[in-house]
Amino acid sequence: MESSLNRRHFIKVLGLGAASLAVPGCTSLSELSAGKSSAKKPNFIIIFCDDLGYGDLSCFGHPTIRTPCVDRMAAEGQRWTNFYVGASVCTPSRAALLTGRLPIRSGMCSDKRRVLFPDSAGGLPESEVTIAEALKTGGYTTACVGKWHLGHLKPYLPTSNGFDSYFGIPYSNDMDRVGGPGRQAFFEPKTEYWNVPLMQNEDITERPADQNTITKRYTEQAVTFISQNKNKPFFLYLAHNLPHVPLFVSKDFRDKSLRGLYGDVVQEIDHGVGRILDTLRREGLAENTFVVFTSDNGPWLTFDQHGGSAGLLREGKGCTFEGGMREPCVMWWPGRIKPGVVNDMGATMDLYTTILTLAGVKVPTDRIVDGLDLSPALFGTGSSPRKTMFYYRGAKLYAARKGPYKAHFFTKPAYGKGQEKRHEPPLLYHLGHDPSEKYDISKDHPEVIQDIHKEVALHLANLIPGQDQLAKRITEK
Ligand code: MG
Repeated sequence: MESSLNRRHFIKVLGLGAASLAVPGCTSLSELSAGKSSAKKPNFIIIFCDDLGYGDLSCFGHPTIRTPCVDRMAAEGQRWTNFYVGASVCTPSRAALLTGRLPIRSGMCSDKRRVLFPDSAGGLPESEVTIAEALKTGGYTTACVGKWHLGHLKPYLPTSNGFDSYFGIPYSNDMDRVGGPGRQAFFEPKTEYWNVPLMQNEDITERPADQNTITKRYTEQAVTFISQNKNKPFFLYLAHNLPHVPLFVSKDFRDKSLRGLYGDVVQEIDHGVGRILDTLRREGLAENTFVVFTSDNGPWLTFDQHGGSAGLLREGKGCTFEGGMREPCVMWWPGRIKPGVVNDMGATMDLYTTILTLAGVKVPTDRIVDGLDLSPALFGTGSSPRKTMFYYRGAKLYAARKGPYKAHFFTKPAYGKGQEKRHEPPLLYHLGHDPSEKYDISKDHPEVIQDIHKEVALHLANLIPGQDQLAKRITEK
């Protein structure tokens, strides 16, 4: 009942007629009209890591982590050096990717709780139109494998949000803590310390999930899904739970990386990328499949050697310096996208608009969508349309970028008891000359600050914050 209501809702939202509603055993008008072209519709795969930093791939400069499969993907495709997520922590970042909207609009960010927890009562509002929901209207088969973190109760699960199937841990792998010696548990992790569930669609099938084999099993699910759906257009959202702490790796990858356990984990993910791309090649799907590899937020630096690296970017997960929100990103589509390094700006929200456009599916027009179509930069016909980026912490705008300049109106340490600091004039950095945000040039460029203030005023003028979806707990009535 729930999913049918959902479907009617987004069909209405997308402005599609009743002919789009499939009746079992009948061919709808839209299916008839789409019949010839459906074979040529591109497939889409988003591989989304958890807490992988800007500097954690060898093709992004890491000296001791070896990622030959993602490196090859980058050599055959595009390596984006200015690619952003919609928030510096998991839940709001994932909401931004799947809805194409800044989390402030959907209410999937909060100043009270930064992400969803196992006692959270909320999740992604039904009124949001996910990539998967939109692609369903275009005849796509959809699967979510991995970490969800947009609500673990039934109305919020992937299967209620446009995905035909789900296999994964519904939130972070460090939640449901039940054992282990304090903080040391993270540095000598055992799977039984975290009683996280593994779900198949709406059912828990394993608890605690065996995290040692989780990356391997996600890859296997992905490969099986691709092979089973090779004759129809599909969308696969593969969201790894790792390398978020606690780190786990299967035995074939343990003690293999010069970087230690963190490197082992990243190298297992990389191996999985290789298996997925090999499957696409073997099934003859490579030239018709757009694959994106990126991460949900920067490295969790408070976990020492178990956290990743933002390379030369400042700070990491949890804050609005570049290390928190700029991610390594590789895009791949052999024979279609123009190989090379892209220094233009892009964002996960843009994947929403780009994918829907490439699929011939209408982007919702009854709401503000922040995503932009990256096709010009992808296909080498022009530059990326993204010229600005807004950096929120919870529900508050902390910083804004326009072109190479970034202004910080507020800063606050990522974690701990550090206080929020207001900057007047804002701190100003030139991210081309100074990617590490070391040298404040605000005094030399009042005109740039004024220009950024204008962009911010335009942005805020159209902003209607969504109702906070993260604060409410199951125990509250
Ligand atoms: Mg994360």
